[in-house]
Amino acid sequence: MDRITVEMVKMLLERNRIAGEINRVKISIRKDVKDQSREDQLQDLVLETGKKYDMEHTGDAARRGGEEEEEDWSDSAKTASRLLNFLLKESLHTQFSHKGPTHLSVFQKAMEMERDGADIIHMEVGEPDLMPPESVRDALSGSYDAGHVRYGSPRGMPELLEALAAHSTRAFGRGWGGGGTGGGGAASDCIKFTPDNVIVTPGGRFAVFAAMSTLLAPGDEVIVTRPAWPAYKDCVIHIGAKLRAINTTLEKSWIPSVSDVTDAINQNTRMIILNYPNNPTGAVLPPDVMDGIMEAAARCGAYVLGDEIYASYTRKPWRSVASYRYDKSIAVQSFSKSHAMTGLRIGYAVSSKRIIDRIASLAALCLTSVSAPIQYAALHALRSDSDGETASRNASLMSERLDVLAGHAKGMGLEFAAPGGGMYLFARVPQDGADLTDAMLREHNVALAPGSGFGPYRDFIRISVASEPAGRLADGMNRLKNMLCAGNAS
Ligand code: PMP
Repeated sequence: MDRITVEMVKMLLERNRIAGEINRVKISIRKDVKDQSREDQLQDLVLETGKKYDMEHTGDAARRGGEEEEEDWSDSAKTASRLLNFLLKESLHTQFSHKGPTHLSVFQKAMEMERDGADIIHMEVGEPDLMPPESVRDALSGSYDAGHVRYGSPRGMPELLEALAAHSTRAFGRGWGGGGTGGGGAASDCIKFTPDNVIVTPGGRFAVFAAMSTLLAPGDEVIVTRPAWPAYKDCVIHIGAKLRAINTTLEKSWIPSVSDVTDAINQNTRMIILNYPNNPTGAVLPPDVMDGIMEAAARCGAYVLGDEIYASYTRKPWRSVASYRYDKSIAVQSFSKSHAMTGLRIGYAVSSKRIIDRIASLAALCLTSVSAPIQYAALHALRSDSDGETASRNASLMSERLDVLAGHAKGMGLEFAAPGGGMYLFARVPQDGADLTDAMLREHNVALAPGSGFGPYRDFIRISVASEPAGRLADGMNRLKNMLCAGNAS
């Protein structure tokens, strides 16, 4: 046993050293470190090894289903595949420490420049420039007198849980609808959520992290459609799971096909992440694709994490994962975008009681409870907004800004897919997106997000309408146009 263990450790270290060398070369030639087709080849190899091992030691390669059915992986094949996922994750660490610029690093740099007196046009982050509803100000100042100064339940304040369950029933329980507006399905089909189905979290980000870290184990696979919010990948790496990316394209309007997803599913698949309306593309899944993916997830028993924090910003029919009566779906929601409450850090997750209980154990471990005054403020935001007034006012404003931005982008000849929701436009640019966004910030005081922060999309940039009024957005786009024209001339 000692000999085998020592040999394995030596081989692991050697593998990491070689992987590090390869990754350094790939980074120097600006190639994505992750190579899905190479990983698939390695997977076939280790599955074959696991099968052979079983043949030699037990005489049984795998359990077979019917004629048409896929072969079940044997326990050895599963172990071999999980070990491979661990090895791949180890070698990805080099990529992790060589991160390129992202929307957040551009934001940090822009804030530094502002401290030095620059006037920056912020088109890099998704932070609404609007104020939260006034009821939030009153609740915050009143929370001291109301006695909201104590520890609370890790799930959330009971009154807020009640209000969120009722809101979720109205907004997400009824199938296809306009997004955050109650859905279009029949009232009789409506799912009625109870406080047991809800947990309050400090922002949608913590809900994503908590769901992933409670439901996933090292070696599990997580399917993510890209371009994607970078935190999913970071979370997968943190857990020691494996990201299986589906790279969608502008040519297909950033919509994956159902078969893209079914082809990516294997017996290690534990979760599918759906972020629609999407950050950064604004894509919304059409009904046949959404329904098909949910069916595929149910067939293989995978969790579906719906990051739906842009739900109130849909411009097309949209449906929450929570409305599918699938007890392995988790819908993540947030007050950050809908109520312009980014700095208050409050969001929530809607799921089956069993999953909420598991997330609540982690929340108890690392938070005790979410800040009481902030929960009180969220309760008042919801109460004063029972018709979704604030959310729909904010949504109309962002939608108008998106139209202004799209008009400018079109006029400049940029290629993009018209966003079905959200607050961003993801456009192809005629040069490296990271170089362009760097030059735009340094030379023209316009902050934009490089596409490479969202996956292998070097020749794209994300333009946000969240933080600036239409006039300044137009100014930012004119400066971008000048920069691109100057680039073409040289
Ligand atoms: N998910 C996505 C897709 C996001 O874009 C963001 C923030 N930009 C979050 C989650 C986190 O939002 P918050 O924690 O502010 O609710």
